[in-house]
Amino acid sequence: MSDCIFCKIANGEIPSNTLYEDNDFRIILDISPANPGHTLILPKKHFENVFDVSDSLVKDAFLLAKKTACALMDLGFAEGVNILQNNGEAAGQTVGHFHIHVIPRKKDDGVTIKSEVFEVSEEEMGRIAKTIFKALN
Ligand SMILES: [Zn+2]
Repeated sequence: MSDCIFCKIANGEIPSNTLYEDNDFRIILDISPANPGHTLILPKKHFENVFDVSDSLVKDAFLLAKKTACALMDLGFAEGVNILQNNGEAAGQTVGHFHIHVIPRKKDDGVTIKSEVFEVSEEEMGRIAKTIFKALN
């Protein structure tokens, strides 16, 4: 995609703080970090989100997210890590190019990701579980 900013960053047309690069991925520091060391895993090929990305690329991307999370812990940037992957505008995806956030966290750092608990009845939980179970099995 010629007008996709993450395609341009992933392929080196726009400079970034690159932490890792191979044939398929570039890992960069997010320019709007939630915490120091907030990292993005970007595939070089354009995929909109998890709904159109290939299975093998998802596997590789999450392995890189794990590797990055471990490095952030080992290097002392984090006491814990959020691995976030947003799909669709309703889920907070702001750039339409598949990417994974690796966000270093420290105790009481004030970063908010959790929302209030959504009240769902036991009956409704059962219906939801049954519906999704059918689709996954
Ligand atoms: Zn793209």
